[in-house]
Amino acid sequence: MEEWQQLLVDGINRSSQIPPPWKSSKEGVGQGEVEKTFPIRINAYYRSLITDPEGPIGRQVIPDPEEVLDFDSPVDPLGEDSDSPVPAIVHRYPDRVLFLVTNQCPIYCRYCTRKRMIGTPEGVVTRGEVEEGIEYIRTHPEVRDVILSGGDPLMLKDDYLEFILSGLRKIPHLEVIRIGSRVPSSLPQRVTPELCAMLKKYHPLFMNLHFNHPDEITPESSLACNMLADAGIPLGCQTVLMKGVNDEAGILKKLFQKLLTIRVKPYYLYQADLTRGANHFRTPVSTGIRIMKELQGHTSGMAIPHFVIDAPGGGGKVPILPPDYLVSMEDGDVVLRNYEGNVYTYPDAPLLDEPAEEEGGQGFRGSGVGTAGERNGKGLGKS
Ligand SMILES: *Cc1c(COP(=O)(O)O)cnc(C)c1O
Ligand code: SF4
Repeated sequence: MEEWQQLLVDGINRSSQIPPPWKSSKEGVGQGEVEKTFPIRINAYYRSLITDPEGPIGRQVIPDPEEVLDFDSPVDPLGEDSDSPVPAIVHRYPDRVLFLVTNQCPIYCRYCTRKRMIGTPEGVVTRGEVEEGIEYIRTHPEVRDVILSGGDPLMLKDDYLEFILSGLRKIPHLEVIRIGSRVPSSLPQRVTPELCAMLKKYHPLFMNLHFNHPDEITPESSLACNMLADAGIPLGCQTVLMKGVNDEAGILKKLFQKLLTIRVKPYYLYQADLTRGANHFRTPVSTGIRIMKELQGHTSGMAIPHFVIDAPGGGGKVPILPPDYLVSMEDGDVVLRNYEGNVYTYPDAPLLDEPAEEEGGQGFRGSGVGTAGERNGKGLGKS
């Protein structure tokens, strides 16, 4: 057995293994009740990072009775099941698909949007479904980008993962392969020299990792990221904004800055989805906006992800920018507010190729510019 497999075996996989100081119950509901709906996995490495069950690492993986006291939130908040032409594929955007290749993960995150399927017998992805997914991509020439996800694709054995990657690479219209993985942050021992040597045969291959807190950046996870980066894999990070885990600008600033030191570029900061069993992690959207304002301009642009809300019911990711930056866009003037709160005016370029619809004047910086500006900027800064 490899080291990473042993760490899974030696972890906490049942509620009966939860140490007494980590036990909790609410309204007569205990963690054993939670386990019946949402499985538990805290591998021995990730477990070693927990100093306080109520702390930012503990909260992410220790089952909370709240999970089963939430009856109203949807089980599939993003409507993924209805955007699924074959069982393993979610095809929502024109040119790219999600390919769910496994329902196993290095840890079972309590906040997971896909907790309806993660680690459950019903959620298992069969080899037949994976083959059907590859076939779907082969027969859909519009798909130029595939995101292997799940579950965590790096939980598959090297040769099965290679079977998938090589099958995908034979498809001429598929340009980019991405892997979404929690492994480097939560089971970094899985990133072996053999895995890296295999992955680098399938470039252009990108990876989006999943770190939520600076305490997840350890010597072990740093080494894993550096090995992947040395295999030529561009690394991004998707972080979920969560109450009691990372909902403070100082924590996220430290996380994003430290990620850059291990060659990981923050990609998305997600507003937590309204998911049954994970609702207690949500923060108000205004918290995320405030945090983005505290980051933008105050630290490297490289360290700043896009803050997005995945719109309920399958609307896809919508970027949320603090509304402050663009004050107004009228009469050819774009009024801007910078990170320090100072206001600047940028004289807009004229829209020369668009005929003016109202009034006369077509001259450079004439009223035609103002008309176009008004047309495009209707409402901006007036709300
Ligand atoms: C997030 C997501 C993608 C990838 O989106 P990008 O913005 O390109 O990273 C693709 N399909 C689905 C269904 C998604 O949820
Ligand atoms: S690793 Fe990802 S898919 Fe797996 S439980 Fe955590 S958030 Fe969900």
